[in-house]
Formats: sequence, C-alpha cells, structure tokens
Amino acid sequence: MPAPLKQIEATPTLPREADVVVIGGGVVGTFAAYYLAKRGLKVALVEKGRVGAEQSSRNWGWCRQQNRDARELPLATRSLSLWDELAADLGEDVGFRRCGLLYLSNDEAELAGWARWGAFARQVGVTTHMLDGDEASRRGSATGRRWKGGVFSPTDGVADPSRAVPVTALGVMKHGGAVLQGCAARGLELTGGRVSAVVTEVGVIRTRTVVMAGGAWASSFCNQLGVRFPQATIRSSILAVGPGSQAIPDALHTKAVSVTRRGNDGYTLAISGGARVDPTLQQLRYVGHFGPMFVKRWRSLAPGGLQAWRAGHETLSRWRLDAPTPMESCRILDPAVDERQIRQTHRRAVELLPALSSVPITAAWAGYIDSTPDGVPAIGEIEPVPGFILAAGFSGHGFGIGPGAGHLIADLITGATPLVDPEPYHPRRFAASARGKVADF
Ligand SMILES: Cc1cc2nc3c(=O)[nH]c(=O)nc-3n(C[C@H](O)[C@H](O)[C@H](O)COP(=O)(O)OP(=O)(O)OC[C@H]3O[C@@H](n4cnc5c(N)ncnc54)[C@H](O)[C@@H]3O)c2cc1C
Repeated sequence: MPAPLKQIEATPTLPREADVVVIGGGVVGTFAAYYLAKRGLKVALVEKGRVGAEQSSRNWGWCRQQNRDARELPLATRSLSLWDELAADLGEDVGFRRCGLLYLSNDEAELAGWARWGAFARQVGVTTHMLDGDEASRRGSATGRRWKGGVFSPTDGVADPSRAVPVTALGVMKHGGAVLQGCAARGLELTGGRVSAVVTEVGVIRTRTVVMAGGAWASSFCNQLGVRFPQATIRSSILAVGPGSQAIPDALHTKAVSVTRRGNDGYTLAISGGARVDPTLQQLRYVGHFGPMFVKRWRSLAPGGLQAWRAGHETLSRWRLDAPTPMESCRILDPAVDERQIRQTHRRAVELLPALSSVPITAAWAGYIDSTPDGVPAIGEIEPVPGFILAAGFSGHGFGIGPGAGHLIADLITGATPLVDPEPYHPRRFAASARGKVADF
C-alpha cells in the first residue's frame, strides 16, 4: 500500500536540452532541481513514477540534528534553516514545524550515549537538553510511566512527507524548471568520456551535467556506466493511525516504538531500525562493504524474501537504452509490508500510549531504505565520468537533510561557495573497500 501523497500535474513535454538533468524526483533530486532553477539554470527533473512516491513519502518526517554523525550534522543544521524559509517562497505549506524531538529511555547505556552526543553537539552550537527522571517523566506524561531520563532537542522538527516533495516540485516549475513524471532515465550518452545527453524512455535531453538522485536505484544505474557504488537497501514497514489524544508528544522516540504526529493530526508509528533484508546479487557484490554494518545492526534486522530481487532496483544486469528497462517495469518501488512488524509496532505503541488504543489504523506501508557502508550519503562528481554527479545513499536520514543536500548539489554545479564542506560526502571514499580492494573511482 503506498503512503499518502499529494498528486501534482507535471510538465507535459520533454525539453530537448537543459543545463542540468536531475534523475529522480525524491526529496534529494527535487530540492537539487529547485535550488538550480531558482538560480536561473534550465533544469529538467525526470521521475520514472510520481515525485515523492518512493522513500520520500514513506518516512516518519523527522528533520533532526539529534544523534547525527559529526560528518552529517552541519548539513542537518543548515537544512533546518532552509526548511524554515521554504513556505515563504513556495507559497504553500510543506508541514514543517520545529516541534522538538523527545527521546525517553530507562537504559543507562542509551542515556550515557545521548549524553556523550549532547556534550559534542553543544560544542558545535547545537541546542539539546538532557532530561533527568522527573523532567523526562513530565514530558512523557502521555505514557503514564516513570522514565529514568531522556533528551529533548527543541530546534529539531518534522515536515509532512505526504506534501513536502510534490510542493517543492511545484516550486521547480514556478522557477522555470521542467518536471517530468512517468519518465525513466535509461542511461547517459557520453562524448569524449563526458556526459552529453540523458536518454529517457520518451526521448533524449542534451546536457553536460546530470545528477543521479535515484535513491534505491542509484547503484544499478551507476553499474551501467561501469561505476561501482556500494549501496544496499533494507525494507522497513510502518503504519499510520487517525487523529488521537492531543496530549501525545509531536515526535517521540523510545527503544520500543516511535510516534510522530502527521499533517492530518494522525500519527505515524514505527520501530526504529527494525527492518528486513531482502537478499539480492547487489548485496552479495558489496557484502565486504556492508558486513560490518549488518553485524552491528543484526538485532534489529531480520531476513526477508525475494521481493527486492523481483523489483529489480538492485539488479546487476546491463540494459539497453533503446528498450524498456527495470525502471519502467517498476514505476514505484512499493514493497509488501512485513505484517508481523506492523502488528508488533501497533501493539507496542498502544502499550506505550494507551490513548492510541481507540484510534483506527488508516494505512500501512513499507519502503526500501538505501544506505552506504558508512551511513553517510554519497554526494559528488564521479571523476571518471565528468558531468555525472551522484547524490544517493542517504541511509535513512535523507528526508530531513534533503533541502541542504539539494542546495549543496546546486552549489557544486554552479561553483558557488558550498553550504557545507562537501568533502565528507564525496563518493571517492568508497574507492577502497572494507577488504582493501580498490574500486573503480
Ligand atoms: C520507513 C522509513 C522511515 C524513514 N524516516 C526518516 C525520517 O524520519 N527522517 C529522515 O530524514 N529520513 C527518513 N527516512 C529516509 C528518507 O526517506 C530517505 O533517506 C530519503 O527520502 C531519500 O531520498 P532520495 O531522494 O534519495 O530517494 P527517493 O525518495 O527514494 O527518490 C528516488 C526517486 O528516484 C526515482 N528514480 C530512480 N531511478 C530513476 C531513473 N532512472 N529515472 C527516473 N527516476 C528514477 C524513483 O522513482 C524515486 O522516486 C526514512 C525512510 C523510510 C523508508
């Protein structure tokens, strides 16, 4: 079942040329196209299905600095400021609110970890408050429980995954860009080794610059160009319930379950980190890169089935540019939910917040979360293919940092001072694999 998503009318005809073609209308590609169009570049955003329909509408909506990796924190902080500014330019609400995120725990080790992160974050100017038992129990009063402690990050917030990307895509068109839906990019044409065109299922767009923001599909697309991009996906299942008690915090994380107020005043319920691994040949190919991550997370991951194999986003096959590709067979990656995880999530949420017991379930869906081996996105030009910029592997954090990532990509393309130091994100860091093998870029 797809997650709720605002539908938009896209541009009817394919432009013959563009300064930049952005492949993939998720949060990353759409914000890249938006900031490029705002700077007056001729941009075409091509999306095989509907903008926002894959990971970018299936997430919880958290836009957080709290507990971020040090490399990603600057992008998270700058993204929050960009979220603040958006509604004024777009003229339409994307549901962003700095409601603060509340974390509660009875686990001393978890609390100690949050305290360590808080000490680091305060040094770099991020506001985060450790809560003692009294304060945590007061803020978490909707649970009716006593808590040992927690964290509240007042400057973090949530945006509405059902609206943010489609509304931003309207912004791309408002600034003169083209947004094509139902338009898969099959591959690139190179002239003298440099990007010279994008071949789509409905025609060719001449361009010297391409952004590959295809989410879970990025690695198989790179493979067509002989570029190795270690990427793996895991399948996470979550559910939404209707509006409930107003006393429930807007965004609450506990080890058992997390709860987020949605734009319609309903809630998204999820188990943090809980997911299934659906094996594919791509995962086998990159097992040396992902072994350490899977070992670290083995408690929250369970083996899945063959649906990722069937969906085709992790295929190792090469396809032709003049015949339908796996992207046209699977317009929207809409994996089956893990019913067991949905039942467990709902049960835990009702145990935690009894007010939810009388609230009906309105939807349940799954999404493939795409990840890099170090859990930090890959953003940067693939050097052996000048003009080809990769922006993928957002590792379960891409919605909140989507605006910053899009801005950074626009900075790299236009030569503007980058919003943040781009070096920690460059894909060249995967050149040496976990086993010390040298990759192709
Ligand atoms: C259950 C769940 C919960 C999450 N919770 C959070 C959260 O609370 N906060 C947070 O920050 N992040 C969260 N995330 C992660 C976040 O949703 C992703 O990191 C982010 O949406 C990735 O955006 P993207 O644009 O890279 O990819 P996507 O949103 O997956 O978009 C990629 C798009 O590219 C298109 N595409 C691919 N290949 C082609 C092609 N060749 N031609 C044309 N189109 C193509 C696809 O159709 C797709 O629409 C969560 C994810 C899930 C699944």
